[in-house]
Amino acid sequence: MPDQRGYFGEYGGQIIPPELQSVMNEIDVAYEEIRQTKAFQDELADLYAKYVGRPSPIFHAKRLTEKAGGAQIYLKREDLNHTGAHKINHCLGEALLAKFMGKTKVLAETGAGQHGVALASACALVGIPCEIHMGAIDIAKEHPNVVKMKILGCKLVSVDRGTQTLKDAVDSAFDEYLLDPQNYFYAIGSVVGPHPFPKMVRDFQSIIGKEARQQFQQQNGTLPDVVTACVGGGSNAMGMFTAFLDDDSVELVGVEPAGKGLDTNDHAATMTLGTKGALHGFECLTLQDENGEPLPVYSIASGLDYPGVGPQHCHLKDIKRVRYEAIDDKECLDAFITLSRCEGIIPALESAHAVAYATKLAATLPADKTILVNLSGRGDKDADFVAETLAL
Ligand SMILES: *Cc1c(COP(=O)(O)O)cnc(C)c1O
Repeated sequence: MPDQRGYFGEYGGQIIPPELQSVMNEIDVAYEEIRQTKAFQDELADLYAKYVGRPSPIFHAKRLTEKAGGAQIYLKREDLNHTGAHKINHCLGEALLAKFMGKTKVLAETGAGQHGVALASACALVGIPCEIHMGAIDIAKEHPNVVKMKILGCKLVSVDRGTQTLKDAVDSAFDEYLLDPQNYFYAIGSVVGPHPFPKMVRDFQSIIGKEARQQFQQQNGTLPDVVTACVGGGSNAMGMFTAFLDDDSVELVGVEPAGKGLDTNDHAATMTLGTKGALHGFECLTLQDENGEPLPVYSIASGLDYPGVGPQHCHLKDIKRVRYEAIDDKECLDAFITLSRCEGIIPALESAHAVAYATKLAATLPADKTILVNLSGRGDKDADFVAETLAL
């Protein structure tokens, strides 16, 4: 748990103006109040089961294991969730909380449109208006997600200023939020942003690890030796890791994007190469210039393309409970194709980073060791891009 001021060790907090601090504290109070109630827990559990399709299974990837030649590889199938990834887990929690607090509108930005589609779905279900800000360039690039958001009935705002991509979409959505923070709810899309969002989004995602720990034990009579997940902002990884933090025998590994290489400027390896700084209302390891401005970051997986990272990850790195590794674009693409062709599962490019690391590690371990990978999402959204990139 974070401390009273929302810090995990040295990271987190609320680096925002005082009037917003009081709004964030109201959200925290409301959240702590409803999450204890049976009505909220039952409603969320019911939606997880009947809307998302939980529990997602754990699958023993036997042919992938054989190909890697070493430890057994298992996949937690978050790719099978409704809307195709883990994001729906926290979007449902946030939409329900906004409704409970009597908010009149849920707001967010989206880059590739994954958070936008999950949030628009959750808001349609819960019955609360939803407004998504998206850069004009991203709107032109991400046609399938754009039309889905429109079909789902959210208000899609095209952001024409600045770079016309994610960074300006954040600023635009935030400007709208500041018009009426009492009545609007800014639904943050990962374990980032000011307190209480890193804690709250983690809690909503922690269903992944809770299920996985029990399922793995039931299937194998023991816990996995290694648990791994990709890290952008870090929500799917925190959701998976939380249940295993007290299991000393379980090694936890977060995998971030090395992009075109750690020795280039084209990566988003915040844990490996970042320094302490503040962005988007909290303190974390960031890739920043000498003035503390976030640097442009890059990953082949747009969901991992973020210059900061969740504060709890930074703390878990400091106390050496979680190890962080980086996987580059080429290794990611190889894993994308290998998993598709060995198991008939097309992963999201984000998730393929974790698969790539797991296969590399598996090769160094004996066959009686086990690695559990959080397969955070499916690759439908990436299929055209990969086919074009590899000239398939
Ligand atoms: C958005 C996304 C991610 C990255 O977000 P985290 O908060 O780091 O989990 C990872 N995988 C998929 C499939 C995504 O859509």
